[in-house]
Amino acid sequence: MNSLFSEYQLAAFRQRLQERREAVVAELRRILTATNEEHYADLAGRVHDSAEEAVADLLADLDLAETDRLVTELQDIDAARKRLTDGSYGICSDCSEPVSVERLSAYPVAKRCIACQTRYEAAKQRSGEHLSTL
Ligand SMILES: [Zn+2]
Repeated sequence: MNSLFSEYQLAAFRQRLQERREAVVAELRRILTATNEEHYADLAGRVHDSAEEAVADLLADLDLAETDRLVTELQDIDAARKRLTDGSYGICSDCSEPVSVERLSAYPVAKRCIACQTRYEAAKQRSGEHLSTL
């Protein structure tokens, strides 16, 4: 049981995460469907292309940055949903202090308090992309 929030607040966070999850899944499905349709139309149009070129074209068509962003958001949402279930929602993953309700309301998937998030982003910026798994 999470003692930081009322049942009402927890239900509201759960609801918001659920709605956002559905929107992200719908958007991913839309991108993948569009990519597939273009891919098949493309292949049907020029079957004489070498396999290598076809793969390169498919990868170029895929909006990888957008897909990546959505997949990451989906993982964040599912992690937040898990924290709601196991009672750790709203507790900073770094310092174990409560994350403010204001921050969670603005950003329901937040797993760090503002101080730790600021520190985390500054550290990430200093060391470039290599720290992405921390
Ligand atoms: Zn913290």
